[in-house]
Amino acid sequence: MYAEVIINSNAKDLNRIFDYIVPNCMENTIKIGARVFVPFGKGSKLADGFVINFKDESEFANKEIAKIEIENSLTEDNIILAKLMARKYFCNISDCIKLMLPPGTSSKEINNRVKEKTGNFVFLNKQVDEIEILIEERKIKRDTHIKVLRFLEKNDGVYISDLETVTEVSKAVFKTLEKNGYIKIVEKQIERNPFVNKKIEKDNPKKLTEEQQKCFDGINFCIQNNEFSKNLIYGITGSGKTEIYMQLIGKILEKEKDAIMLVPEISLTPQMVDRFLARFGDVVAVLHSKLSDGERYDEWQNIASGKKKIVIGARSAIFAPVKNLGIIIIDEEHDMSYKAENTPRYNAKDLAKYIAEKNSCPLVLGSATPDITTMQSAKENEITLYTLKNRANKAKLPIVDIVDMRNELAIGNRSMISFKLQDEINKNLEKKKQTILFLNRRGYSTFIMCRDCGYVAKCKNCNISLTYHMSENKLKCHYCGYERSTIKECPECQSKKVKYFGTGTQKLENEVHKLFPNVSTIRMDLDTVTKKNSHEEILNKFKNENVDILIGTQMIVKGHHFPNVTLVGVVSADNSLNMDDYRAVERTFQTLVQVSGRAGREENGNVIIQTYNPDHYAIIEAQKQDYDLFYNQEISLRKMLKYPPFYDIILISFSGKNLNQIKNISNLVHKRLLSVQNDNMSIYKPVPSPVDKIQNNYRWRIIIKSSKVTSKVLDIINYAINDEKIKKSKEVKITVDINPNTMN
Ligand code: ADP
Ligand code: ZN
Ligand code: ZN
Repeated sequence: MYAEVIINSNAKDLNRIFDYIVPNCMENTIKIGARVFVPFGKGSKLADGFVINFKDESEFANKEIAKIEIENSLTEDNIILAKLMARKYFCNISDCIKLMLPPGTSSKEINNRVKEKTGNFVFLNKQVDEIEILIEERKIKRDTHIKVLRFLEKNDGVYISDLETVTEVSKAVFKTLEKNGYIKIVEKQIERNPFVNKKIEKDNPKKLTEEQQKCFDGINFCIQNNEFSKNLIYGITGSGKTEIYMQLIGKILEKEKDAIMLVPEISLTPQMVDRFLARFGDVVAVLHSKLSDGERYDEWQNIASGKKKIVIGARSAIFAPVKNLGIIIIDEEHDMSYKAENTPRYNAKDLAKYIAEKNSCPLVLGSATPDITTMQSAKENEITLYTLKNRANKAKLPIVDIVDMRNELAIGNRSMISFKLQDEINKNLEKKKQTILFLNRRGYSTFIMCRDCGYVAKCKNCNISLTYHMSENKLKCHYCGYERSTIKECPECQSKKVKYFGTGTQKLENEVHKLFPNVSTIRMDLDTVTKKNSHEEILNKFKNENVDILIGTQMIVKGHHFPNVTLVGVVSADNSLNMDDYRAVERTFQTLVQVSGRAGREENGNVIIQTYNPDHYAIIEAQKQDYDLFYNQEISLRKMLKYPPFYDIILISFSGKNLNQIKNISNLVHKRLLSVQNDNMSIYKPVPSPVDKIQNNYRWRIIIKSSKVTSKVLDIINYAINDEKIKKSKEVKITVDINPNTMN
């Protein structure tokens, strides 16, 4: 017997299948998915890999498998899925297998992991009563000291960095407290636990409303009958979707099954996780990008062993090694993050469908503004639709106003904040309420141009204009990270009339301070969110310290709940509207509705949308918060223009340093496509991509519109890009993406 083995390695040339002889002694134990060690290359070195197939004959096999390791093996289902993904997403099987393994499963990494890290832990050095007496007698009186000690009273033995994050007190304070003998700092092994051991109050299921009950009953029926089904819960924010998810998961636990819930990374806030911990306790595993490899490895093992039964995570949590899957939930199902933009370019929603069907369990999608494609499937009865029209906690929807920015200039307002918005901010400040200002561009100015000759400052590696960042006084490329000092004089014509155009969050923050001299502001965008946990810190600070105004990009749209925010200003609704992308309008609408939802969850809230396109249907319907109207308009346009969901868009991209080679190869692929195309495909000529150079790599593309990507279509594309000549020209990288998130 022979085994086909995929080597667990990042090296490009090992990304193939190798044949090995299965020794007789292994014939009974070896399975598809087994992790094996095989002699590889010269000498006695063993490489590790996975068995993906067996066969009776092999031309190439001349070495035997040396060892099988049961731990960290994959299942046959994993291998089937990896093969399917490799074909569907035009990538290597090994790229897909990596997603199904916890990080650090290569032999070298396992050895490293055994050496556990140690860290400093903080313990109280006195009895709780003693501390309280000292506080009462004002022997301990600094607020920061009291804060730390009181936290320790409830959570003794906390990892020092966690303590720092939770109490927002600097490490110097801990040193003082140690010197005074109130606490001791002890070095010990770090027990990797992504949560600070905080006490969370137990929460019980709520009595469902009629709408919620109907939805719950329908999906629970599938759970009880072990039936696959696709469901969409379409319900406005606060309509109680999460409560339904939790009650469904309750049923899953009763049946001793496991649940996977996907959420956008940015929604994985402690607030959200706490709700699940409060309801279900420590059977909840959380997978997010901030976990260290060690933490991720631990969670992976806890899930595989059945210790944790509810997996909450971003996109890649769909591959969590649950034993007995009973439900998959995808919250905010319209979110772009479910589609991977790096190899393998998989769509977690598609995979979820496949995995749920395989496990005979329901798939539940939830959103206030469903993906147009999902809603269309619901209308066609391919997905069961449940609509929640009312807010479960009776909170009101905000009042949304549109300001036509074309009139502002006419009435003498040159600021980017309209008079109306200025007015509302003032009122809000008086009432001591908080405001959020949303602008989907970071930096200060978005491009720099010479007024005399028209020169635009561009990145030296990419064909893209540089953004001015005032805080560092630098020009930056948002594509490759290139930075340079700012320019005062035009490098082409030496004119001094260099102007800064466009506005980003930094400029907005400046302007806010000019207009409202005494307000406190906090800014959240990619520039301020850098350190570990910083995203959390900013939002906590905004909430806990009652900062007047939060200024931010897309990042502020999801996640946290801010009870004191009663005003949201969308500074420019047009930024995303004008993008050359078939989903630009849908995204604008979704974003506007979601940002609006940030205003006045509990009290009456106001939203002001500033725009130069007040008549655009996305803006008008976002004002009315009317998804159904928007859907009807958008779907008829999509149909007319041959866009998804009626047609799939396949983007074949070519990139590399040699422009001539790119032209040649893309023309060759085009020719090959034309030679085998079918009637349902429109194949467009190779052209430069909208951003035609990134990091010194030229970029060209071919677009194909296909009435549906069938197996036949995949074959055609695979044929077209797999030619000897193409394989040999290693300098041109080809990627294929179906319905990509961005078209640039
Ligand atoms: P969504 O996920 O749709 O935004 P949530 O499930 O978070 O909605 O519910 C919004 C708020 O209403 C939460 O505070 C939740 O606890 C509460 N809630 C949800 N369902 C009920 C119910 N049936 N009875 C009372 N309160 C509810
Ligand atoms: Zn010039
Ligand atoms: Zn660049």
